Amino acid sequence: MSFDDLGLSEEVLRAVSDAGYTDPTPIQAKAIPHVLMGRDILGCAQTGTGKTASFTLPMIDILAAGRARARMPRTLILEPTRELAAQVAENFDTYGKYHKLSKALIIGGQSMDDQYKLIDRGVDVLIATPGRLIDLFDRGMLLLSDVKILVIDEADRMLDMGFIPDVERIVGLLPKMRQTLFFSATMPPEIRRLADAFLMNPREITVAPPATPLEKIFQGIVTVTRKERGRGGGGYQKFKREALRALLEKEDVRSALIFCNRKRDVDILYRSLKKHGFDAAALHGDMAQSARTETLGKFKAGEIKLVVCSDVAARGIDIIELSHVFNFDIPTHAEDYVHRIGRTGRAGREGRAFTLVTPEDGKYLHAIERLQGRRIEEIHAGPGKPGPAARAKQDHAEPEKSASPRQSAKKSGQKSDKKSDKKSAGPKRDGKPDDKHDGRRNEQRGQKPGQKPGKQPGKQPGKQPGQQPGRAGKDEGVVGMGDHVPAFMRRPAR
Ligand code: AMP
Repeated sequence: MSFDDLGLSEEVLRAVSDAGYTDPTPIQAKAIPHVLMGRDILGCAQTGTGKTASFTLPMIDILAAGRARARMPRTLILEPTRELAAQVAENFDTYGKYHKLSKALIIGGQSMDDQYKLIDRGVDVLIATPGRLIDLFDRGMLLLSDVKILVIDEADRMLDMGFIPDVERIVGLLPKMRQTLFFSATMPPEIRRLADAFLMNPREITVAPPATPLEKIFQGIVTVTRKERGRGGGGYQKFKREALRALLEKEDVRSALIFCNRKRDVDILYRSLKKHGFDAAALHGDMAQSARTETLGKFKAGEIKLVVCSDVAARGIDIIELSHVFNFDIPTHAEDYVHRIGRTGRAGREGRAFTLVTPEDGKYLHAIERLQGRRIEEIHAGPGKPGPAARAKQDHAEPEKSASPRQSAKKSGQKSDKKSDKKSAGPKRDGKPDDKHDGRRNEQRGQKPGQKPGKQPGKQPGKQPGQQPGRAGKDEGVVGMGDHVPAFMRRPAR
């Protein structure tokens, strides 16, 4: 099928052709004709499938007829993060270049006055993160009674981030007679229920994830086994930084994202890389929006080679040239691993993804390998002793019966996304509502705040916290208590 068969206008087709696209992706081919007909859509698709264009292209044509009225946007697109919202806005610029459409990007961290001025003039498209939109609404700066099309993008991510109550409130403010396009990468029961509530007789479209990591991305793990003792800090961190530098020098890196699980570690690693002469920048949810936008812009333009980032800041970032992804910390959810490494190997290009793994990361590695149905190759890249440390632990790890790594994380006593993020997504609306859980999730699930990275007492049967892998003797751990050894039994005997 070609773009010409989808019912799009000449102008949109010209813009698509200018963008260099010849054929629609499966989600575009399946969704666009139905959106143009006014049908609701329930799309099960993730970033990388071309889903953004599947709703922006027909929306541009629908919006071409009619005019915006002051403070009454005609369409509303809800995105979970500022970066995704900004990316959708860019899509409107790219594909709407032969139309005269007005849009406003309503995200935290930017001047509300400027956003209000745009809305006051009248906008065709409002692209927003839920928190800031509600702020503006509550201040009487905007009316939602003229919204004819609603797009809810990345619904499962909204759920993860605790935004669903906000989304429900926003939907309640919209006219009942509207067209709704609802996208989610996964369809857990909560999302299905929401879709049932928001959509009327939707056209259901499911597309396969984009080129699976298995096929197009070379994946490797580097085991970092030596542990820093004393001086009260670092754990494996110093050795992970060494291993990362060795990898960066060994690999032909054109541009790379380097993921840390916590914002604090993003800063530490970024400063360390700079100190060692690498061309690096940092990206996380605590940074001012202007700094985030500037960093992202420079990265996309090829002016910065390495960006050290947290999950939320990097979610959905679409950089075709990205040659590498490095996981400085292994993600505690296997799905996050797939999202992270999916930033590379895009649009038919080769990608390479490497993960630093400590002996205590075995169960996370296990979950990732189980999700993919195969083992990840072990690479030796510098100071970390090569060896099966993480796997050895994994083999001793308590069997995880649950099919979903999210469930297994819950099982192991870690808080669920929903609960922990809801807590943090509470009433605080200080200009960065979309990222307020950034990085905290891993802290809450994987480690207690303030706990040293890599130290997880009670997680490893038979090991003293802080004990070197494979060492026996005086430090030998408690045997026979499974995973639930009381802390006092782990204290060394005097
Ligand atoms: P998305 O899933 O919307 O994040 O899009 C992923 C990437 O695919 C973006 O870089 C788009 O510019 C690109 N893309 C979207 N539609 C097409 C198409 N029909 N052909 C080739 N690339 C596309």
